[in-house]
Amino acid sequence: MKKSEKQIYSCTNCGQDYNQWVGRCKACNEWNCIEESLIKGKKTAVKTNISFKDLGAINTISLDENTIRYSTNISELDRVLGGGLVVGTAVLLSGEPGIGKSTLLLQLCDSIAKQGFATCYVTGEESISQIRVRANRMNINSDVKVIATTNMDEIVSVLKTMTSPGIAIIDSIQTICSNEVDSSPGSVSQVKACTLELVNSAKMLGICLVIVGHINKEGQIAGPKLLEHMVDVVLSFESDHTKQYRIIRGLKNRYGSTNEMGIFEMSNIGLLEVQNPSKIFMPTNRPNISGSCIFAGIEGTRGVLIEVQALVAPSYIPTPRRAAIGWDYNRLSMIIAILNARIGVNIMDKEVYLNVAGGTKISDTGLDLPVVVALLSAHKNIPISHDTVFVGEIGLLGELRSISHLDIRIKEALKLGFKNIIAAVPDKVKLDSDCGNIINIKHIREIIPLLLK
Ligand SMILES: [Zn+2]
Repeated sequence: MKKSEKQIYSCTNCGQDYNQWVGRCKACNEWNCIEESLIKGKKTAVKTNISFKDLGAINTISLDENTIRYSTNISELDRVLGGGLVVGTAVLLSGEPGIGKSTLLLQLCDSIAKQGFATCYVTGEESISQIRVRANRMNINSDVKVIATTNMDEIVSVLKTMTSPGIAIIDSIQTICSNEVDSSPGSVSQVKACTLELVNSAKMLGICLVIVGHINKEGQIAGPKLLEHMVDVVLSFESDHTKQYRIIRGLKNRYGSTNEMGIFEMSNIGLLEVQNPSKIFMPTNRPNISGSCIFAGIEGTRGVLIEVQALVAPSYIPTPRRAAIGWDYNRLSMIIAILNARIGVNIMDKEVYLNVAGGTKISDTGLDLPVVVALLSAHKNIPISHDTVFVGEIGLLGELRSISHLDIRIKEALKLGFKNIIAAVPDKVKLDSDCGNIINIKHIREIIPLLLK
């Protein structure tokens, strides 16, 4: 080892550095996660002469939204990004291998290039001709520049010669390698060093950087958690249970909300935008069977209708089984207890299964009422009318509470041909006249007569 080189030990889980090998990371308490690497070059203190009086005041910094944010012209992507890409942003896109990340990014490049901005696709995994074949299949013929390299210095020199605002895709960060770090590509120290360098260069040059990060078998972004702290936006790209649709979500966004969701459909010419998400979560032809009802939900700022299914069956074991797929298990137990205590419906000794269709996970408390309805429908064998949606939070007393964005939820239900909305409407709220038939209920005891009608 040369004098200027330094041996460091980093945690593969959280990215913490150590001077010597340790069996257990003190930062995240993970065992056997320490990786050794060699850092070249010695750090020297940089002398600067910046002083306090040279600093600009916050109210003198120019603020022009149009110059700092531009649309990708892919509305589902814009929605998740909070309206478009911000100049100099670093975006991390994570997802399982083969899910369509490269396809999405090639489409993004095409759309940006068509707007006349500089676009560069850096591929560390595929050859240029493989990218060409894919682009051909997707009918992409704009002047997206492609480079196949894994050398970080090469990428930085390309970035330096790009015009701003431009966009550079790094596919993927796990293949990029810096000469400063003496460990294999994809190791913690490599990923850390390369991300830091690339993000800094892009910020300085006003280029948008989209970094692809693979996820490991636990569903985490491979490499340290630190990677997420280094970028401005973290997007996750997943598929639904049918594998036909792709869902993009924001896990972190410095320039927008993280509860938006973008939906695409995979086709042989690439990803097509799905403007109407209810299409995924709703059955195409519902049979008239008890135990299913429709929830007027919300994803970000748009309404989405989701089917909720319940099964209540006799149990032959002392502790009956209960399962909730796509919803909180504890909340299901709470609802079962409320049904027993407040309206005398006892399903405590039954096996109860709850399933939110479409493979989505819901944390919206407005799902309480649809769950009650699905359980009652399954237990009493009453099929629910096809033109009714439900939404409402239930308290421990059995009372119904109103939930946020009732107007958006109602609008979505009406758009899809539903006529009755059963919900708790706050007294002070005035809804439009074209709201369909709203049945306002205040307590769950009012539900059974409505279902029997
Ligand atoms: Zn750690």
